[in-house]
Amino acid sequence: MLREQLAAHLEFFAELGVDGIRPDRIWRAPGGQIEPVPSESPQPVPIFLSPQEALAAVREDLGDCVRCKLHALGRRQIVFGVGNPNADLMFVGEAPGADEDIQGEPFVGRAGQLLTKIIEAIGLRREDVYIANVLKCRPPNNRNPEPDEVQQCEPFLLRQIDVVKPKVIVALGKFGAQSLLKTNDPITRLRGREYKFRNAVLIPTYHPAYLLRTPSAKREVWEDMKRVRELPRA
Ligand code: URA
Repeated sequence: MLREQLAAHLEFFAELGVDGIRPDRIWRAPGGQIEPVPSESPQPVPIFLSPQEALAAVREDLGDCVRCKLHALGRRQIVFGVGNPNADLMFVGEAPGADEDIQGEPFVGRAGQLLTKIIEAIGLRREDVYIANVLKCRPPNNRNPEPDEVQQCEPFLLRQIDVVKPKVIVALGKFGAQSLLKTNDPITRLRGREYKFRNAVLIPTYHPAYLLRTPSAKREVWEDMKRVRELPRA
């Protein structure tokens, strides 16, 4: 019955010259009037992340990183970075050692305790500055970072620098300085000078682990730190 009714209905419309149906809403609306439909593609809403949130996002991107071989060479955990996300002063070391690998925080071993003293000697507290390394994973037996490891890991350090926006970066030791400045010059030649790095002044100095072995080099580090203290950070 329904089929017959429908066929008759369509025949009637055919006689009126209606030869098909249109799917658009305006055709179906009585009198051709239709309410405006809200746009189905919402306007993008700008997202402003605080430096703390932005660092958390970088950490999340790093994930349980397997980008280089260090993930399979005995690292216990990734050592991301620590400190004030708004710091004017940032320290960049080489890679986590055994203590850092256990505790998950950079510069907490003997070299780290010396770094904390250096920071305090220029009138700051460890929590005032930001501390990170070129590599986020401990190389086996604290061997030197290898080029492929630096290549994979460095983008995350650069993102940390871009979020924190320090005014002064102290590169600790050969690897920190060489990888940021893209040079093979020895630290003895690099230190004692200031470099422009992104929007910061970069000051290379000796690594605190080197100072533990060579206490006579503390005098030069103190010269570098006096420079750091005097640099305008406002
Ligand atoms: N040495 C570094 O370069 N970084 C650390 O975190 C600890 C020791």
